[in-house]
Formats: sequence, structure tokens, C-alpha cells
Amino acid sequence: MLIVMNRKATQDQIDAVVAAIEAKGFTARPIPGGDRVSIGVLNNAGPVDPSFFLGLAGVKDAIPVTRPYKLVSREVKAEDTLVTVGEAVFGEAFPVIIAGPCAVESLDQALTIARRVRDAGARMFRGGAFKPRTSPYAFQGLGEQGLQILAKVRQETGLAVVTEAVDAASFDLVEHYADMVQIGARNMQNFSLLRRAGRSGRPIMLKRGLSATVEEWLMAAEYILNEGNSAVILCERGVRTFAHHSRNTLDLSAVTVVRKESHLPVIVDPSHAAGRRDQVLPLARAAVAAGANGLMVEVHHEPDKALSDGAQSLYPDQFARLCRQVAAFARVMAEEQNGTDSP
Ligand code: PEP
Ligand code: MN
Repeated sequence: MLIVMNRKATQDQIDAVVAAIEAKGFTARPIPGGDRVSIGVLNNAGPVDPSFFLGLAGVKDAIPVTRPYKLVSREVKAEDTLVTVGEAVFGEAFPVIIAGPCAVESLDQALTIARRVRDAGARMFRGGAFKPRTSPYAFQGLGEQGLQILAKVRQETGLAVVTEAVDAASFDLVEHYADMVQIGARNMQNFSLLRRAGRSGRPIMLKRGLSATVEEWLMAAEYILNEGNSAVILCERGVRTFAHHSRNTLDLSAVTVVRKESHLPVIVDPSHAAGRRDQVLPLARAAVAAGANGLMVEVHHEPDKALSDGAQSLYPDQFARLCRQVAAFARVMAEEQNGTDSP
């Protein structure tokens, strides 16, 4: 249930409604909006009778929330959530581009790529220090040394950095060094990790699981918001299907569904969806056309020597082209939305 307060409701009235919700054994979660406060009623096992709340001072409405996910839902918060990381703002009309190698391999490698992607238009740098690999014999990442390299990249280039935490121990380290923490596809339903992310002061990028439905993905995000962290960005990265012409199948319809269902920003990772360089640029264009709030793209200056995901990594020049095309697409869409191209 969502309790909508009057526009002029006082703080005392809001506090009294929170106390009344808690007295019933439920959890109250105030949600500041553009011009009024709403209060989410959570942890109720069954339906709640709205008439009780409608009688309280300052209450305008009490609306049942029909979706299984509450805090991430547009039913609870209609306006888009903006998530700010360094200079990047996710959730505004113009798509934000994150770029960098799959894994941090050395300071020289990371800095070389970071300078190239920054000059081309990336607003954030990516690079894994803890890598979730299918094979235990594959490169697992540089660990804390990789995080120190990322901190150096930020210092040298001004780019905010995002990197993955794979468990509770790496979360503590990643949170210390990074500007945003990534929870990868394989950990999308690692509920203790999601709760840990919810107690973090850092924004979280939550990638969609390899076989997760949109509902499961949003429920995973709900874990994070439910612990108090509402700075969450969702990332569609392709799901596993019968198709073998790409590593995964990029599910762009999920982007349109998530944008309708949720107020959280949603970005697209065409690199892990494609698995091969030649598909990345067209998929990136399509993602922006579908309404993605941003992109995360793997780039390497020497992809043949990359320690992971070289085949899907763009050369810096290809990435620069991607940025130009995305900017052109975004401009056309903005003009269309503003009606400036209408006769
Ligand atoms: C990554 O972004 O490097 C990564 C491992 O992605 P995913 O979790 O989507 O496979
Ligand atoms: Mn990768």
C-alpha cells in the first residue's frame, strides 16, 4: 500500500502516519516526491485496509500496490530516478556511456584505454578487478591491486569508475575504491550480496541474470532498495537462448518494460550480449533507440592480447564511432520528443 500525503502535510503529520504504520507491525518507508511525500507500507503479509489510513490527518489517498515489487515500481514513485556518479547522471534523456576493458590488467593498460575512451565521450570507466569466470583456471582479476589501479585511473583522467563485487569480502574492498559497485549477472539472485549492496552508500549497477525474468530482476533490485539504498541502475546484458549466432540474446524489449514498470535508470551492455565485436555497434544503436538511459561497452587497445573478453572488445577507434553515432541518435530522439522536427 502507498499512503499519499497532502501537498501541505506537515512533518508532524508524516511522522504520525509512519508511527501508525509501525504500530500495526508493518514497515513505513517515506518516499519524497516532486511536490508531496508518499509513504510505502511494506512487510504486510496480506492486504491492508486503506480506510484506517484515510482517517489520519494529512493523508490524501491510500492506494494498493498491485506489483510484487514495491519500492522499484512506478506505482510507488512515478518520476524517473536520477542516479549521479561523478559527472555522470543516469536517468536523464541523454544516454551515459561507460567504457573500459573487461578486466584491469595493468596500470598502463587501464590508463591507455581510459584516456582513449574519455576523449571519445565516455563519462565513466569500467574494468573488473574481481572477475566471475566460468573456469577456475581462467584469469580471475588482479583483486585489490586492480582496485588501486582504478583509483589511479580516476585520479589521472577524472572518470568515475565502476567495478564488480563478487562476494561480501570483495564488496567491502570495492566499495572503498570504486564510485559505483557492479553486481554481475551470475550474482543477480545472491540475496545476501544484494542486502549488502542495499546497506552501501555507493550507487549499485545490477546486471540482469543470464536467465532471469524482468520480474525476478526487479525483485532483486527491490532487495537493495528495501535495505535503504535507492541509487540503483539496472543493466540489460543479454539472456541465454537457443541462438548461437551471438554469445547471448540482447533482450531490448526488457528495456521498454523496465522503463514502464520502474523509475530506476536502465542501461544496456551490448558487449556481453554480442560476444563478438562486429555486433556491438548496431546493438548499441538499437539500445539507445529503445530508450536505454546509457550503455556499458568493453574496449581494449590490444584486444588480441586481452586476458578476458577480447573478442567482444571494441578498438578505441570503433568506440569513438559508437559515441558519435549514439550522440546523433540521441539528438534525433530528443528533437522528436520536443516536437522540433514536426512540420
Ligand atoms: C562484466 O561486466 O565484466 C561481466 C562479467 O558481466 P556479466 O555479469 O553481465 O557477465
Ligand atoms: Mn567481460
